[in-house]
Amino acid sequence: MASSESANRVAETQVLIVGAGPVGLTVALDLGRRGVRCLLIERNETFIQLPKMERCNARTMEIYRRLGIAEQVRDAGLPRDAPMDVFLALSMAGPVLAHLPCPSVAQAKAEIAARNDGGLLEPYQLISQYTLEPLLRSIVEKLPSVTVRFGCELIFFEQDAEAVNARVQPIAGAPETVRASYLVGCDGGSSTVRKQLGIRLEGEGNIRKLRQALFRCDDLYERIPIGKGRHYHIAEGPLFPFLILQDSTRHWTLHAAASSDAEMAEIFRKSLAMPITFEMLSVNEWTQHLLCAERYGDGHVFIAGDAAHLVIPTGGLGMNTGVGDAVDLSWKLAATLAGWGGPQLLASYDAERRPIGVRNVKASRAAMTGRLGWRAAYRPNIADETTEGAATRAQMAALFDTEQRKVTEISGIEAGYRYVNSPIIWDEPGDGPGPDPDNPHYVPTTWPGARLPHVWLNDGTALHDRLGPGYTLLRLGKTRNSTSALEESFRKFRVPLDILEIPDENAREILPYELLLIRPDLHIVWRGNTLPHDVDKLALVATGHL
Ligand SMILES: Cc1cc2nc3c(=O)[nH]c(=O)nc-3n(C[C@H](O)[C@H](O)[C@H](O)COP(=O)(O)OP(=O)(O)OC[C@H]3O[C@@H](n4cnc5c(N)ncnc54)[C@H](O)[C@@H]3O)c2cc1C
Repeated sequence: MASSESANRVAETQVLIVGAGPVGLTVALDLGRRGVRCLLIERNETFIQLPKMERCNARTMEIYRRLGIAEQVRDAGLPRDAPMDVFLALSMAGPVLAHLPCPSVAQAKAEIAARNDGGLLEPYQLISQYTLEPLLRSIVEKLPSVTVRFGCELIFFEQDAEAVNARVQPIAGAPETVRASYLVGCDGGSSTVRKQLGIRLEGEGNIRKLRQALFRCDDLYERIPIGKGRHYHIAEGPLFPFLILQDSTRHWTLHAAASSDAEMAEIFRKSLAMPITFEMLSVNEWTQHLLCAERYGDGHVFIAGDAAHLVIPTGGLGMNTGVGDAVDLSWKLAATLAGWGGPQLLASYDAERRPIGVRNVKASRAAMTGRLGWRAAYRPNIADETTEGAATRAQMAALFDTEQRKVTEISGIEAGYRYVNSPIIWDEPGDGPGPDPDNPHYVPTTWPGARLPHVWLNDGTALHDRLGPGYTLLRLGKTRNSTSALEESFRKFRVPLDILEIPDENAREILPYELLLIRPDLHIVWRGNTLPHDVDKLALVATGHL
């Protein structure tokens, strides 16, 4: 580094994480729980109160459950009994053209508790990004191996064969050098890390500009005549105002294709169509992109979250995809730093997560197309009390009922992703391509690469909760097969492996094999009824040595 000598201080850490958005915070949380020393830097001095994401999907909530924070996230978010319905209406005062009921968290949890069919373990949670980030920060700051520094910007880095030297600039003070074994760029859409690696974004950028405003409106939630929900689409072209409930139930965001900031308050007033006092707290413009990075890193440097992929928020696949990146990368970093992870482990981050990034960009496009699909039925006569007006309303409502489901009913995209062609997943030759990993509806599968389906055990616990932080060999349905050879291989390579006996018949039925090898992030490496002939090979593939 040309002028690193002039930097005042040299700090050393195992992992330098750049950016304390939800993705950087999740990387820090998982690494910190694994005892990895890391430094998380954020250029802003404090969190910015911009409302962005508001829905953690079911898979993110499962991940947060595994990280031990799901109930804290729910406590800070929208109350558990609040409906999550989606409305299409002429205004918040009605009339309603279409209504998609979506269960509250409490209802969804009761449904999950009553079923045992390999579905999802956690429902979604509405929590505003400006609530989630400080919560995650407060949790991360308590982890002894993590240091969090706000008001500290990454300026530049270079890497050698062993590590990365990064120049960081605190808001107050002289530049410093941080030497880290690895650097993770979670620095958002205009990522410095991505740019310095020379990684291009592929796809469609700058699709459309929209304005978003945040309102405080204390009475609205209690007074909505058409019913409580989270999303309200106003059938008013060409602006198509879209109101989103925030977690306090006192705050709302409005999205609209407005041409100026000043218009937003008036659009909100018209959308409410009832006399209610409100205050506009902020307005900002944001741009829609559908982009994915051509690579997810180089050498000792990786990118994750919006630094690696940018989607249109329709379908909520932005932060949620980034949380998936975070927990795919973090255990691989921890394993490599602990000395038992082979070279393929970190290489598999790109092989596993980039296809999911590309897939989710595609799914986000499909969700947006669904929304544009029903909006195309708009005619200026939509509010007229005429036969033609009624026909316009009926047509838009019918389209909404099918097309909007491409946004709200995509559990397969959220949780059914599978790592295909990963170097650390066991190949099942001759069994065909496996289930469609792009199915919008979640279908439980133990196909290698998939997430372990959720099963309630006889004692009322969830199978997911029984798995430790390392690898687990599940022995299902009172199997008598010996697994000592594989256990010996893991011991030989000094890789942590738990053996978990699950005699419950229901688990054996839902996961229709006697043996499953599960990785630290709960994805399945291998399944079978007897061990493969070459058990060393299985251990070496799983841990990235082949
Ligand atoms: C209107 C809107 C609604 C959305 N709704 C949803 C939703 O419901 N669900 C969903 O999953 N996603 C949603 N998203 C997307 C979601 O907000 C993003 O995907 C998410 O913020 C990405 O998180 P991140 O941590 O990767 O990046 P960011 O949140 O962008 O965080 C990056 C951080 O890095 C910091 N930084 C940047 N450069 C540096 C540097 N050089 N040094 C130090 N720090 C740096 C930045 O200050 C920032 O704090 C929405 C987005 C928008 C705009």
